[in-house]
Amino acid sequence: MNGGRGSAGGEPSADDQPGRGNVRGMRAWHVEAPGPVTGHPLRLHTEDDMPRPGPGELLLRVLACGVCRTDLHVTEGDLPPHRPGVTPGHEVVGEVAALGEGAGRPGEGGFAVGDRAGAAWLRRTDNTCKFCLRGTENLCPNSLYTGWDADGGYAEYMTVPAAYAHRLPGGYSDPELAPLLCAGIIGYHALQRAELPPGGRLGLYGFGGSAHLAAQVALARGATVHVLTRGEQAKRLALELGVASVGEAADMPPEPLDSAILFAPVGELVLPALAALDRGGTLAIAGIYLSDIPPLNYERHLFQERQLRSVTSNTRADAREFLDFAGGHKLQVTVHPYPLDAADQALRDLKAGRFDGAAVLTP
Ligand SMILES: [Zn+2]
Ligand SMILES: [Zn+2]
Repeated sequence: MNGGRGSAGGEPSADDQPGRGNVRGMRAWHVEAPGPVTGHPLRLHTEDDMPRPGPGELLLRVLACGVCRTDLHVTEGDLPPHRPGVTPGHEVVGEVAALGEGAGRPGEGGFAVGDRAGAAWLRRTDNTCKFCLRGTENLCPNSLYTGWDADGGYAEYMTVPAAYAHRLPGGYSDPELAPLLCAGIIGYHALQRAELPPGGRLGLYGFGGSAHLAAQVALARGATVHVLTRGEQAKRLALELGVASVGEAADMPPEPLDSAILFAPVGELVLPALAALDRGGTLAIAGIYLSDIPPLNYERHLFQERQLRSVTSNTRADAREFLDFAGGHKLQVTVHPYPLDAADQALRDLKAGRFDGAAVLTP
């Protein structure tokens, strides 16, 4: 996706343009040998060529990039490599530094040089398959992903198709905006998949970056929220945000649930979460990964029209709805900052669970 392609129009100004003229290159991390982050799967290059925006693409100067668990899966090779030496990062807050040919058209988002824009996981879809045509582009079999199929935001600059870039809400710092672009959007989509009725009772299993944002959306909509998680800090944060109860991950909540979302990647928890549902209730599983689910008992776990659903990525419409919501409600975002040069440390700390909230890289 980057490099090599011709671009036209909207060249960045001279002092914004370290790569052209080759005075100096940009810094960017690359997954050179996928494997455990305790080794050295990532390498920082300091003299990379600047990416050039292709037709319909924006060049972003990265202001902040969130560190997501999916980046860990890309770096460690749990997700099969799609682009050798890829630069991870898909929660990117940037400033538009240049426009590729046609990228400023209103249909492509109407971005101009100097605008702030966000790049998220979903980078491109084919717009022609049956899933795209029926409004479920998150299921497009030809979709491409930022920081997996194309270089992402663990760098000073990156490109993003303008039609898949996001307008960002005011009222947040750049580091606070970054986690909204994956953790926030996915949590929001999971909430939709869980079909929480107005004023309903919601159970959240696990309480990390995504769950703590989804909880705030549900609470703002008048839901009663019960959090089931291990970890005293997570329980404290949940109570601070106004949830009705906290308990251990496998506990029964104090009342039957209309909806539940499983954020913890633990298949065993599907059973207590289904057992906690009221008649007709829905459990949505939010993660890309889940360990195996033990055998279900029909009577205890599914009868009375309880439903079990997965959550796959998100559509651009989900993202826009969530970012609009974030613009109208001040969400509390817990950020743990790292300099860009310490991205490998941030991933090691994420894996070891050394911080609360979301790690965010700033150049
Ligand atoms: Zn499609
Ligand atoms: Zn993510």
